[in-house]
Amino acid sequence: MATPHNVVIIGAGFGGIGMAIRLERAGYRDVVVLEKAGSIGGTWRDNTYPGAACDVPSHLYSFSFEKRTDWTRRFPPQPEILEYLEHCARKYGVLERVRFGTEVTGASFDEAAGLWRIATTGGELTARVLVAACGQLNRPALPPIPGRDAFAGTSFHSARWDHGADLRGKRVAVIGTGASAVQIIPEIAREAGALTVFQRSAPYVIAKPDRPYRDWEKALLAAVPGTHALSRAKTYTLYESRALGFIKYPKLMRVVERQFRKELAARVPDPALRARLVPDYPMGCKRILISDDYYPALTRPNVEVVTEPIARLTEGAVVTADGAEHPADVVVYATGFASTDFLAPMRITGRGGRDLNDAWRGGAAAHLGITVHGFPNLFLLYGPYTNLGHNSIIYMLESQHRYVLGCLAAMRRAGLDWIEVRAEAQAAFDRDMQDRLHGTVWEAGCTSWYKTENGKVTNNWPGFTFAYRNATRRPDPRDFHAHRTP
Ligand code: NAP
Repeated sequence: MATPHNVVIIGAGFGGIGMAIRLERAGYRDVVVLEKAGSIGGTWRDNTYPGAACDVPSHLYSFSFEKRTDWTRRFPPQPEILEYLEHCARKYGVLERVRFGTEVTGASFDEAAGLWRIATTGGELTARVLVAACGQLNRPALPPIPGRDAFAGTSFHSARWDHGADLRGKRVAVIGTGASAVQIIPEIAREAGALTVFQRSAPYVIAKPDRPYRDWEKALLAAVPGTHALSRAKTYTLYESRALGFIKYPKLMRVVERQFRKELAARVPDPALRARLVPDYPMGCKRILISDDYYPALTRPNVEVVTEPIARLTEGAVVTADGAEHPADVVVYATGFASTDFLAPMRITGRGGRDLNDAWRGGAAAHLGITVHGFPNLFLLYGPYTNLGHNSIIYMLESQHRYVLGCLAAMRRAGLDWIEVRAEAQAAFDRDMQDRLHGTVWEAGCTSWYKTENGKVTNNWPGFTFAYRNATRRPDPRDFHAHRTP
């Protein structure tokens, strides 16, 4: 048998690349990153749709150890974010650790050998430690609309944009009005002949405080030590304060809701259209979106907003429940991702043959969102309960990177083969999460990718990000079973 790798990481997005960099810097040499695609980037490689950008400013949406001072604007477009991640992978020498075109189909823990056996499209590998950095938004969800396959025109998901499709003058249907759609719609409304937007639930969209950085600002950031850190700290504090509205004082949301209504009134003069754009659920239940050009795009003469539910697709049209046919040459599915399945469709088998999908049947759970009872030496990045509605996910990932390093260092010091989180520790964390999530705005009456089909919120962290950083500062040995081969 080939010598087992020290650490195998699944996925080369921000989570996996950041983990590989931290391991490299901590002196772990035999680290392999398995990536199913032909390049790195995760969600920032997949989402190349027109208008793609992050809704957290890049001074904060970037690694703390690699400050870039020449972002072109506060919310730079997707190619700049992808280029930044590629730069990090090159600079810290982890690009050569990535095995491209290698999809993991499953992994099982061999208790006798204390190893993970990882099945991939390129053969089997073994590793002492397995880190799953697959993200929550990597599997596009296509809605089960009757007749979807009967549509004869061009159709694609927002995360698989067909750049060969020429939308100029075409009749385009966009299904969905989430974070991706509000960025896509203003861009394609300019070129489509007719654009029909199918809205199932209206989003809350507020102003986007975006602007290009001036040359002198970039020069200042590069020349004066501390200015970048100051900008980052300012943005962090501002974004973190939003957690107060989500978790502590929901009444604070009313202030933002008033701002929303004022902006909507200014941007959509037609009262009938405006009425259809007001959400019927409390603000914050779904992600609050930012855009300056979404509502103006909806008022264009070539754009129509349809709120009647979609009944089916035919060869050349979207048919709504009222029987109306909306002819289309192109259908764009901006319908989100299978987010609550986490590691599916990979089959992960732990100690005693337990299957992760079975263990998570009632909803995914992991201690601190990172370790799962029954699955030794498996670490999840951006796992259950670690998504945010208010701040940068990179901050959460960096907390997780440090926690994983802490676990590996503890194992090394004590000469352990593997560690496994105790069932009681995981259950206590899960109870705490569910208690704290209970009554939050995410549980209110709306559909969202934060919830399982049964309405259980499994994706979000119900607290401040600095509290998560504190909780993950170092692993507590009392939370783990440890195993050493005699
Ligand atoms: P999403 O927020 O889950 O939105 C999916 C949209 O499709 C919703 O409007 C949903 O309606 C609609 N939909 C789903 N199934 C449908 C059906 N059968 N019929 C009609 N409509 C249907 O997905 P997303 O926009 O791709 O965004 C996902 C997440 O990715 C975001 O929340 C965010 O975390 C991240 N993201 C971030 C950015 C950014 O940083 N700017 C950009 C894009 C994505 P309902 O609301 O009624 O369910």
